[in-house]
Amino acid sequence: AASAAGTGTALRYRPALGTAAERRARLREDLPGAWDRGELSVLFQPVVSLEERRVTGCEALLRWTHPELGEVLPAEFVPIAERAGVIGELQRWALEHAATAALPLSQGGTPLRLGVNISASHVAARTLVRDVAAVLESTGLAPERLVLEVTEATLTSEGEHVAADIRALRLMGVHVALDDFGTGRSSLAHLTRLPIDVLKLDHSFVLRVDRDRQTRALCESVVGIAAALGLDVVAEGVETPAQLGALRAAGCGFAQGFLLARPMRVHELAEVLGTGAGMVWPGLVGSR
Ligand code: C2E
Ligand code: MG
Ligand code: MG
Ligand code: MG
Repeated sequence: AASAAGTGTALRYRPALGTAAERRARLREDLPGAWDRGELSVLFQPVVSLEERRVTGCEALLRWTHPELGEVLPAEFVPIAERAGVIGELQRWALEHAATAALPLSQGGTPLRLGVNISASHVAARTLVRDVAAVLESTGLAPERLVLEVTEATLTSEGEHVAADIRALRLMGVHVALDDFGTGRSSLAHLTRLPIDVLKLDHSFVLRVDRDRQTRALCESVVGIAAALGLDVVAEGVETPAQLGALRAAGCGFAQGFLLARPMRVHELAEVLGTGAGMVWPGLVGSR
């Protein structure tokens, strides 16, 4: 701990740095077992088919309610789980919990697809195939309903087992989505070689789609290539009617974002699916 002695300036800096480091240390210490203590929950954000004008899927998004620190977001605690070596346990809990909750969800007689984010280190740890198979078995979720969301870095990592594991999962019938496409070093040519079923256009890309011509042209190219490859395209983080309009004009098939619906508890999603209440459908189905 820092000594109380020092100049006024030093004292003004120390508490702030101490707080951030202390928070990380505290989270790292408290994370193991958080799932068994009932501190984790899963929110579900609807994925909307722009052609069918209905909810066809949802993405599971983890939340940790720390007893003292309150809500902690996955961007903060997933890296901590990776470094602490508990990502496997965390992912197994998330998969099991999300699959159990999403199992009864359907709209228009069609069961919803369920997207679950999978971190690179879980893929690297080699238990993913076994973990997914166990969850499908214990919950009875049809493999075709499960969409594992991974990043390009995960898919192209050097780990020798990654490609084989992804292949095994797809042979089981599980779908694979390339998450956050448009960030990092995503290349169009590379797309043809990736073992995926769904392409998720990153929020940062969607943000610009109604604003500049290059992004719109790129979006049209991506949608065209995806169609040729038989991939579904999901736009992430759609926030404005203008973005949605540009995406529909470019031929994008699916969208997700605050404009359509926020991440919500499973019972709220069930209500949305039943009544349509809670969804904003700008220009999709009537007006509210
Ligand atoms: P992601 O997979 O790209 O998830 C989309 C993120 O965008 C979510 O943040 C979601 O709440 C947010 N979002 C949705 N609509 C909008 C919008 O219209 N505007 C904006 N600005 N944001 C929107 P969240 O829930 O904080 O999750 C962040 C990231 O954490 C996820 O990014 C994913 O990579 C990771 N994550 C979430 N759950 C899990 C999990 O169970 N396991 C692992 N390994 N990672 C997870
Ligand atoms: Mg995702
Ligand atoms: Mg994403
Ligand atoms: Mg993203």
